[in-house]
Amino acid sequence: MFESLTDKLTNAMRHLRGTAKLSEENMAEALKEVRAALLSADVHFKVARSFIERVKEKCVGQDVLKTVTPGQQIIKIINDELTALLGEGSTELSKKKPLKIMMVGLQGGGKTTTTAKLAKALKKDGYKPHLVACDVYRPAAIDQLETVARQIEVPCFAKRGTPDVPAIGEEGLSVARASGDDLIIFDTAGRLQIDEQLIEEIKELKRRVNPDEVLLVVDGAIGQEAVNVAKTFNEAVQLTGIVMTKLDGDARGGAALSMKEITNVPIKFAGTGEKLDEFDVFHPDRMASRILG
Ligand code: GDP
Repeated sequence: MFESLTDKLTNAMRHLRGTAKLSEENMAEALKEVRAALLSADVHFKVARSFIERVKEKCVGQDVLKTVTPGQQIIKIINDELTALLGEGSTELSKKKPLKIMMVGLQGGGKTTTTAKLAKALKKDGYKPHLVACDVYRPAAIDQLETVARQIEVPCFAKRGTPDVPAIGEEGLSVARASGDDLIIFDTAGRLQIDEQLIEEIKELKRRVNPDEVLLVVDGAIGQEAVNVAKTFNEAVQLTGIVMTKLDGDARGGAALSMKEITNVPIKFAGTGEKLDEFDVFHPDRMASRILG
C-alpha cells in the first residue's frame, strides 16, 4: 500500500507533539513531503516552490493545536489553500446572447469532444447551439465534429477545400445568426506542439468573430508542459477559461495548479469521460484532494 500524504505528514511531524508553535524548522521535513507530493502529481517545479512558500507563510507562528495532530493541521491548511487557489474566479460563462465561444488547444486534448459536450449541456439550458468547424487541416476533424453534432442534434457549419479559417469562422457566424441560433462554438485546429502558424490563425479568427469566451481545452495528464501551453495560448488569445479533460483517468492533475498559477485564468469545466454527457463544472475541492493524493 502507498502511504497517503496525511500519513506521511503525520509521521514527519510526530516530534511536534507538545511544541507550542509551528516554525520553519519544525515544519521542514513535512514541507519536503508536500513538495514531493506536488511534484509527483505533476505540478510544475516553480509552481510547487511558490506554493510551498505561501503555505509556509500561513503556517509559521500558528499554535500547534491540541485537538488534531500537527500533520492533520498542516494538511488542512494546505488543502484549504490549494482549494482556494484552484477555485479563484468564476466557472460561469458570459451571459451575452448570442454567446460566441472559441475552443483552442493542442491536438488530442479533447477540443472536439468538449465542443459537443458544452453544446449539449447548454442546449439543456435553453440555448440553440450551432457548431462551426475551423479545423481545416485534418478532414477527419470536420467529419468528427459533424458526427458529434448529429448525435446531439445541433447544426454544424463546415466548408471543405479552403484553408481560410477566419473566413470560415465569419461565414459560420452569419449562417448561425441567420438561423436564429444563439450559441456559436468554433472548434479550432490543434497541433501536437504549439506553432507560430496555429497561433497566428487563431489570433486572426478571434479578431474576426470576436468571441465572448475563449476556452483552452487541455488533457488532465499533460504534466509539466501545461505551463508553456497555457501561457502561450493566453498571451495569444487571452483565455477566459480552461477545461481539463480526461479526469476519469489516473493523472493526478497537477497541471490544474500550474496553469492557474501561471495564467490566473479560471478552470471552468472538467471532462470526465468519452461520452458526451461526461462533463461537469470544475470542482476545486475534488482537484485539491486529487493533487495531494
Ligand atoms: P481534439 O483533437 O482536441 O479535438 O480531441 P478529441 O475531441 O478528438 O479527443 C481526443 C480523444 O480523447 C478522443 O478519443 C476522445 O474520445 C477522448 N476524450 C476527450 N475528452 C475525454 C475525457 O474527458 N475523458 C476520456 N476518457 N477521453 C476523452
